[in-house]
Amino acid sequence: MSLPVLLTRRIKDLIENAVEDGLTRIDAYYLMSHVLGKSREYIYANPDVKLSFLQYVHWIFSIKRRKRGIPANYITGEREFYSINFLVRRGVLIPRPETEILVDEILKYNPDSLLDIGTGSGNIAISVKYHLPACRITAVDKSSKALRVARKNCLKVFGKCEIEFIKSDFFNSLGPRKFRVIASNPPYIPAGTLKVLQVEVSRFEPRMALNGGSDGLKAYRRILAECGGYLEDDGMVMLEVSEEIIKGVVDLARRYGFSAVAVKEDLANRPRVLILRKL
Ligand code: GLN
Repeated sequence: MSLPVLLTRRIKDLIENAVEDGLTRIDAYYLMSHVLGKSREYIYANPDVKLSFLQYVHWIFSIKRRKRGIPANYITGEREFYSINFLVRRGVLIPRPETEILVDEILKYNPDSLLDIGTGSGNIAISVKYHLPACRITAVDKSSKALRVARKNCLKVFGKCEIEFIKSDFFNSLGPRKFRVIASNPPYIPAGTLKVLQVEVSRFEPRMALNGGSDGLKAYRRILAECGGYLEDDGMVMLEVSEEIIKGVVDLARRYGFSAVAVKEDLANRPRVLILRKL
């Protein structure tokens, strides 16, 4: 690497250096657009722009953190989900694109009330509220940190808190009430699989949000055993699932008095959302 390139603050050179150094091109562009406060298209169109000294320091710190394995969204503190920009912090799961399928299904059903269990950053509850303003939404999480992030997201999107957030381990602190839809993207990775997942998932994201216990079904067992009393008679339970555990979830559902109405697949044709109703 020649000296002038090493000292450059030209954004295109900095990105190429970072890629040569092992960052993916997606991450390099994403982190650069955050440093600049500009879109990716701006970077393509203006490769010769130079970073200010402060931006340069920000860039160096960002790529250093990324190289340590910290997910890019924890570095920028944000993640887009359902076309909304969410704040994300260590301690909440980074929303995944697959979960947008769950939001699609909730919106299609057009419920007048929704309970979101394990809300994390609030991504599901807030995306639904955004499109169904009249829907009464309660979101629970047992993590105070997650609830703080979710409330901030709610304020950011709506200007006031339009969603009821409750600190609750599943239904424990909810009190008697009923919902048309109970939705959740619960932790579903079997403990053994979690161990072999890519480093950044297991090291930096909250294990509580990922670890589904030895068979991956721990959270579903709690939800399906207890949700009956919180569901309107014609209500639906909509759960994110994976190929690995869907059979187990369907069996559990049957045992607790639910039948599977539909299974929605993701873009890779793997089962992703399971829709249930009371038998
Ligand atoms: N509801 C959040 C999401 O879907 C968090 C889920 C979780 O922590 N397991 O991304």
